[in-house]
Amino acid sequence: MNNPRFPWRGTLTDGKSAGLRTVEVGLEDDAIHMRDASTHAHLGAWLLESVDIESGAGATILRLKVDPAVQLTIESGELAQRIAARRSVFGQLFSHTSIATKLFLLLLVTIGGLLAIWFSAHRFSQQIAHHVPFEWEQKLAEPLVKSYVDRRCIEPGIDEMLKKLSDRLLAGVPLPDGMPREFRVIVVNETAPNAFAFPGGMIAFTRGFIAEAKSAEEVAGVLAHEMQHVIQRHVMASVVRGAMLTVVWSVLIGDYAGMILIDPSLLYTLVTAKFSRDQEAEADRGALAMLDAARISRAGKRDFFARLMAKDIRDLGRWTEMLSTHPADAKRIAMIESGMPTEGLEPALEPVDWLSLRVSCQKASSYERKTQ
Ligand SMILES: [Zn+2]
Repeated sequence: MNNPRFPWRGTLTDGKSAGLRTVEVGLEDDAIHMRDASTHAHLGAWLLESVDIESGAGATILRLKVDPAVQLTIESGELAQRIAARRSVFGQLFSHTSIATKLFLLLLVTIGGLLAIWFSAHRFSQQIAHHVPFEWEQKLAEPLVKSYVDRRCIEPGIDEMLKKLSDRLLAGVPLPDGMPREFRVIVVNETAPNAFAFPGGMIAFTRGFIAEAKSAEEVAGVLAHEMQHVIQRHVMASVVRGAMLTVVWSVLIGDYAGMILIDPSLLYTLVTAKFSRDQEAEADRGALAMLDAARISRAGKRDFFARLMAKDIRDLGRWTEMLSTHPADAKRIAMIESGMPTEGLEPALEPVDWLSLRVSCQKASSYERKTQ
């Protein structure tokens, strides 16, 4: 009886005993299956990769690689053709290689994939960020934002003054859908001059920055720039990129417990992370539109970068972090100056407010909540 699963007949020899065994042979799941021709007892299967195949003159001869004396001879060339057909380019590559080589190839493909994610994270993260609802970003940043808000400069009038400035900057420019026209601006108790944008739209200046700033226009220029990082979703892109890289890193080092995507410390790292040159240029362009619409002179922004470039700030070392995230160069300054309005400008802050901001937030005690 010819079973469709065992269409061919052959002879099996172990190379030691003189006897030949007549078997029925089938091809299934990349293996040669054999059963005894008379009892139909299943004799086992040989993986295709474990045999050498020879064909010709209407016969197919299979020899076990580990013991070539063990040989199966089939009176048909058809099996050899069927096996060849199964071996596509990919199949050939794989069926002729050892398990170790396969694992190595698989590992290479995996690492390649992870590296592709790693290096394309910047581009993809920006695209993904544009689709993340802004409320999610705000929700995500809540714990971090709160911890900074609780430690801000709380001198009377400061919150209102900074809000007025940020409202004025936000009033004249289009915002993405779902982004409220209201950003919180705070001063935090750190002496190294810096400014950073939090996810969800809060901007923080260090008291060192306020002390070093030469005018309210410099503060407004940097504020507009940081706001643009939020508006153009650069900040959210950093969060997405950080999450992507955390996953890749966790997979590479096999630390699956580390795949908790967002934790506050990671967020802080991202807040102080570098933006790309493109993102910096985008933020600058957006900031100039904001300043122009608010009738605030661009000169503050220009002077700020010019001062950084000229290195006339006494201890430049303190500016290292700000400089690493916001490199000052001639191109940047030239862009600010091109088409810079010179008429119809109004001060970023009233002189009395500017003085009050500089004086009020200089004392460490301005950051402490008075206990009742
Ligand atoms: Zn920037």
